[in-house]
Amino acid sequence: MSTRYLPTGWTLPAITPWNRPFFTAAQLLIQVCTSCEGAQHPPLDFCHRCQGHDLDYRAAAGTGVIDNFSVVHHAGSAMLKDVLPYNVVLVELSDFPGLLVLGNVVDEDWHERLQVGAEVRVEFAEVTDPDTGELLALPQWRLS
Ligand SMILES: [Zn+2]
Repeated sequence: MSTRYLPTGWTLPAITPWNRPFFTAAQLLIQVCTSCEGAQHPPLDFCHRCQGHDLDYRAAAGTGVIDNFSVVHHAGSAMLKDVLPYNVVLVELSDFPGLLVLGNVVDEDWHERLQVGAEVRVEFAEVTDPDTGELLALPQWRLS
């Protein structure tokens, strides 16, 4: 577990029946359609390939490469002013080619090391949702 990259109090994901496994399992679970075997992210209530509703979750290795990233220098919210600049990354999972997961790289020296193609591994920040009391495990990324 690590501390949350974004500030305490920053908006948490809205939990749905279909994204709950992704945000609570403390392992990277990717939604897979049992009809067509298609993997998708973010999780939905139907398969975006065959429109089927028989969806399951498969554990990913938790490793990947930076497909793309942004460095944010202007806070869209006053709550983010103290963490500027911060990064937002798209990670292509090593065992689900083409599947991208959004997140942040948590390394303190990310400014020098973050680049497209850099290898990362997932780690989770444990956060209790103050509205529901549910314990979330938010995926974040660490450079390898
Ligand atoms: Zn499908």
